[in-house]
Amino acid sequence: MRLVFWGTRGSIAAPGANTAGFGGNTTCLEVDTGSGERAALNDHIILDAGTGIRALGLALAKSRPVRCAVFITHTHWDHIQGLPFFVPLFVPGSRVAIHGPFDPVGLKDIRGVLEGQMAYPYFPVSSAELKADISYQTLSEGQSVRVGEATVSAILMNHPVISLGYKVQCGGKALFFTGDHEDYANIYKPDDPLHEEYQGLIEERRQALADFLRGVDVLVADAMYTDAELPAKTGWGHSCPAACARLARLAGIPRLILTHFDPTRDDEALLRFEQDARAAHQGPDLAIELAREGLAVEI
Ligand SMILES: [Zn+2]
Ligand SMILES: [Zn+2]
Repeated sequence: MRLVFWGTRGSIAAPGANTAGFGGNTTCLEVDTGSGERAALNDHIILDAGTGIRALGLALAKSRPVRCAVFITHTHWDHIQGLPFFVPLFVPGSRVAIHGPFDPVGLKDIRGVLEGQMAYPYFPVSSAELKADISYQTLSEGQSVRVGEATVSAILMNHPVISLGYKVQCGGKALFFTGDHEDYANIYKPDDPLHEEYQGLIEERRQALADFLRGVDVLVADAMYTDAELPAKTGWGHSCPAACARLARLAGIPRLILTHFDPTRDDEALLRFEQDARAAHQGPDLAIELAREGLAVEI
């Protein structure tokens, strides 16, 4: 498998000279489960459709028609905003299979939510005018989808909306992408009688996630905040290098790639972020690096 990062930013795109090194586009990952050539386009899996998917769409559309499967972790702006600009959707003969979670607030399936962002007040072309053959599948925790030789499995993550993490397995290799995820935190103070019981539930949930991740070769994880920033952002639904490294070690994953960077962090800040994360958490059992737009990882 070959993993390529097309968008590494969280919350909102952050273009400009100061962010060009790590990239300004929001979340989008391409997983090529084929030979590494773009000829076998039905082997293409796309995780999230942030603004990074625009350039990916242009690259894929060079070989027409495109056949790919898109998996949306959740429908916050930074994970779907590029989808209306994904050129293969406009190309007759292209086949795009879109997957994602149910919206329990608006009571909409993934098709309903995504068509909403293409309604005329927001976008000039309605989804009904798209020329590709588009299919939708709403996913729940525990579901798996076969894409060519690969299997993509979903698990529920910890975020203010329903958000699915995706495990991609192919040819004996596996990667996991958390999407947006906050480590489980105890809402009770240590002297509260409910603290201990709640802590037990947290450990259970962490272990269940680690069990799901066992055997994964590369963990791609939300690291919006530094370890020092996280306590002030508890409940916002994001993680930090300490929590990501703990999850990797609990699951026995040897390689951790941090992504979903805060839009206020420029390249200089992210280089420091990477150095600090390595100094605090890297070891012989765990390699840590930051994602960069254009970074390709052979798994
Ligand atoms: Zn996000
Ligand atoms: Zn989010």
